[in-house]
Amino acid sequence: MDFTDKKAIVTGGTRGIGRAIVLDLASNGCNVVFTYFSSDEAALELEKEASEFGVKAFGIKADAAQFSEAQKTVDFAVEKLGGVDILVNNAGITKDGLMLRMSEDDFDKVVNANLKSVFNYTKCVMKPMMGQRYGKIINISSVVAIIGNAGQANYVASKAGVIGMSKSNAREFASRNITVNVVAPGFIETDMTSKLNEKQKEAILTGVPLKREGKPEEIAKVVSFLASSDSDYITGQVISVDGGMAM
Ligand code: NAP
Repeated sequence: MDFTDKKAIVTGGTRGIGRAIVLDLASNGCNVVFTYFSSDEAALELEKEASEFGVKAFGIKADAAQFSEAQKTVDFAVEKLGGVDILVNNAGITKDGLMLRMSEDDFDKVVNANLKSVFNYTKCVMKPMMGQRYGKIINISSVVAIIGNAGQANYVASKAGVIGMSKSNAREFASRNITVNVVAPGFIETDMTSKLNEKQKEAILTGVPLKREGKPEEIAKVVSFLASSDSDYITGQVISVDGGMAM
């Protein structure tokens, strides 16, 4: 994959899947701005690690749920990298609970962080991407958007929304040579899934034909492919990377 002179924004880049995406893009020669929510230390460490591949890498603290913060990030990327060719909407959170007990606040927080964030960033990159008639947008959804999951109504609604918005945007932006695709990870070993106890993990694994958790790097490889020119004729697709959970 050739990412020479390409510039990417990755939201939620400091941990788990986002971190693996930043490092995979950087290792293939792509300049990257990544966002995070809390840890400045993790961001500084990642800036250092990614720039060791000889690319520009900058972290910026920005709440993906806030439109103004998304605009700040895109302006920052344009200033530091000279533009935006690739957007990976990866930032996401969970606040699980059965519908009966789920608070309105937990619903709103998850939908804002996972779905509104995709609206925010997509809208803000339109100007640079449409101007150059080129762009690759990759949105991270989830296997549960396809099969549902008890106790995750807020999360599943947000991730299913990401798939719907991506397909609409793929149709809307195609004439400007901007592709929009979705990666739907299954059960991936990150801080997000480390909250689960052994019994819960075992129960999930019974539904995984490949009988193991996925690694963040296995998601990152697919994201890099969709971000590269090797995928130029693919748009509006949902690629499951889930060990066969949804088929
Ligand atoms: P993670 O380990 O919890 O990391 C989440 C990352 O997102 C962190 O870097 C965090 O930054 C950042 N973040 C959270 N809220 C943010 C906000 N409002 N603004 C900006 N950054 C924010 O999660 P993960 O497991 O890597 O998941 C990454 C994506 O994959 C998410 O969209 C998730 O829903 C999706 N996914 C994960 C799995 C899985 O099994 N792990 C499966 C399907 C889909 P701070 O550390 O600074 O807070």
